Amino acid sequence: MFSVEEIRKDFPILCQKVYNKPLVYFDNAATTQKPNVVLEKIQGAYTTQNANIHRGVHFLSQKATEEHENARAYVAQYINAPNPCEVIFTRGTTEAINLVANSFCERFCGEGDEIILSEMEHHSNIVPWQLVAEKKGLKLKVVKLNALGELDLEHYESLFNEKTKIVSVAHVSNVLGTVNPIKTIVQIAHQKGVKVLVDGAQAIPHLEVDVQDLDVDFYAFSGHKVYAPTGIGVLYGKEELLNQLPPYQGGGEMIDRVSFGGTTYNELPYKFEAGTPDYVGSTALAEALRYMTALGLENVRKHERELLSYTTQRLKEMEGVKIIGTSCVKSGAISFIVSDIHPYDIGMLLDKLGIAVRTGHHCAQPLMDSLGISGTVRVSFAVYNTKTEIDVFIDALKRVTAMLS
Ligand code: PMP
Repeated sequence: MFSVEEIRKDFPILCQKVYNKPLVYFDNAATTQKPNVVLEKIQGAYTTQNANIHRGVHFLSQKATEEHENARAYVAQYINAPNPCEVIFTRGTTEAINLVANSFCERFCGEGDEIILSEMEHHSNIVPWQLVAEKKGLKLKVVKLNALGELDLEHYESLFNEKTKIVSVAHVSNVLGTVNPIKTIVQIAHQKGVKVLVDGAQAIPHLEVDVQDLDVDFYAFSGHKVYAPTGIGVLYGKEELLNQLPPYQGGGEMIDRVSFGGTTYNELPYKFEAGTPDYVGSTALAEALRYMTALGLENVRKHERELLSYTTQRLKEMEGVKIIGTSCVKSGAISFIVSDIHPYDIGMLLDKLGIAVRTGHHCAQPLMDSLGISGTVRVSFAVYNTKTEIDVFIDALKRVTAMLS
């Protein structure tokens, strides 16, 4: 039985009050709250089996290594990766994208080569490419959006030429909520022999992600956006491709043999995991994904779809509200502006009423520029949110905007 009231009991933080008002947490696209099973996993790992992993001959080290590798296998199963060695643990989406930008471009890109991004990208999927482009003399091309906040696929297709090496796009926009047609994007790129990295930071909490079905070459996501702790994330990459890339960082388990004459590197996935990995974070991430599986991804999706459509309908009823991003395929987040009121003022006053929303450019300044606005108010949902909270939010928004008008 899927019951949001029961689910809420799993998240101890949700029952607290803020300024003496019940907390309404609508900032889930920034980070999600953590269920007891995840908190207990972290506590349990440090209380009963903490030891540095790999190469340890002793009991605790072997146990911790086994848990870390089991976590990898579970993540692989969750995203339907054919082989656990294709799951690289990173600090999050940002680090995963930096890894690909550096290693892929080092191996496959030369002066004048081109990379395709889109106008809706998070800074984490822009700046790593700019850094490497500057170093190697590469060119970035940017897919435009249509009026609904969707990728203009005709424009996308027109950007390819013989110099295009990789496409890097979000699965779901953290501002607009648009769900991009990844399968089509991949098919078009692959027909032209171009690889695709997908930034799945905003997809993994809401959608079923099957990397084989999507046929992506790389897929990146963060644990903290899917009920796991901060500091752990994943880069999935096709084994054959990862094997061709040079290491990103050096040290720790990524080596095979080190000498001052030269060093050889370990096999996948260790080649890309320099230094002590977050072996507690990895097991907590697997626990969070198990929690999602137990809830049933279809149930989660259905519930969040209802929240999204109810909020959209309630916002549309309000005078002066303009929703930013009106694709019919959306997930997780709604952005809006109200008349000429500054989003920050709305966010500040909502906070005083116990409601956490995010305001500003949402780390997507190029998108704001293309929309001709400085920022939005964003509400974003998780599985524990309710329609009652939306009613509380709408009433509060009406009060706040009346005060600010
Ligand atoms: N991409 C998108 C679409 C995001 O929403 C975020 C987080 N706001 C990131 C990348 C970066 O994620 P992280 O900070 O966890 O690395």
